[in-house]
Amino acid sequence: MASRISRTLVAMLATAGATLGVTLANPSPASAAMTICYNTSQAPSYASIANQAATIWNNATSNLTLTANCGTNLRIYQITGGGSYAVRTSLGNGRVYIDTQQAAQYSPLRIMTHEIGHILGLPDNYNGNCAILMSGGSAGTSCTNPYPSSAEASRVTSLFAGTRSTERGADSGSTVFQDSWPAALAPVS
Ligand SMILES: [Zn+2]
Repeated sequence: MASRISRTLVAMLATAGATLGVTLANPSPASAAMTICYNTSQAPSYASIANQAATIWNNATSNLTLTANCGTNLRIYQITGGGSYAVRTSLGNGRVYIDTQQAAQYSPLRIMTHEIGHILGLPDNYNGNCAILMSGGSAGTSCTNPYPSSAEASRVTSLFAGTRSTERGADSGSTVFQDSWPAALAPVS
């Protein structure tokens, strides 16, 4: 009972602080999380999936904040056929294409977090291990794990360490990541 009251009190104080406009002292730009704005206007069927994927990446990393529809660092499209893929124009910038047919075979959330992983700097790693996000479709259609491994998450955090903007042109050119999700065999009828 006592702990419930104290928790309630803490929540009330936090609310009061927010209402009064209390902000953290000494915000440091160098340690601020980088915002990557993603846009789902061209992927209406996957807006919710994109939001879930953004939350996964935000929780897995310590210096990134993927935010919906605040800009266009990352544009997400839905396509029919041809396979899901990603085009990274520079670290934190690019386009993700979700194939609706593929997303009916593989976990759409795993596809989304995987393709965003490419935008965040990760290469493919087709080792068939479902615990590895960048193993993509090599882990089979039964693999629905949407979470990066701790090593994958640490890699992204280190790639973004020290970066303060997501301006284009940081990389030498666009990189296309295709064929991460091989077509599953048609069910035997
Ligand atoms: Zn891939």
